[in-house]
Amino acid sequence: MSDYDPNNIFARILRKEIPCKKVFEDDHVLAFHDINPQAPIHVLVIPKGAYVSLDDFSARASDAEIAALMRAVATIARQLGIDDSGYRFLANNGANAHQEVPHLHIHLFGGRQLGPMLKR
Ligand code: AMP
Repeated sequence: MSDYDPNNIFARILRKEIPCKKVFEDDHVLAFHDINPQAPIHVLVIPKGAYVSLDDFSARASDAEIAALMRAVATIARQLGIDDSGYRFLANNGANAHQEVPHLHIHLFGGRQLGPMLKR
């Protein structure tokens, strides 16, 4: 899937058309606080490239982009001081997962006991 909408909200954040509360940036990755946090720490980690989903990213991104995204998640967790207490990272992909923004993003949650992984 690579039918990328260049006007999705994260594309606009990357172009600095709308603000974000940045927590991390490098050549390939931007991370910022979620606007509607579901935990004391809720950060979104996104590739700077135009990728809709993990499916798209895994098919088209370079090894350097893929490594940078994964490394950024752990770096940010350390930076925010949740590496010892623990955290969860997840990415919603497509309709069944309720992906709302069509630009790949990893949610990073921490700062409290997060409970079971999925609603039963
Ligand atoms: P998902 O359902 O996995 O696509 O998650 C989309 C996430 O983006 C939600 O947690 C929203 O709260 C978050 N979000 C939407 N707009 C913004 C924004 N302008 N800045 C930061 N987070 C946002």
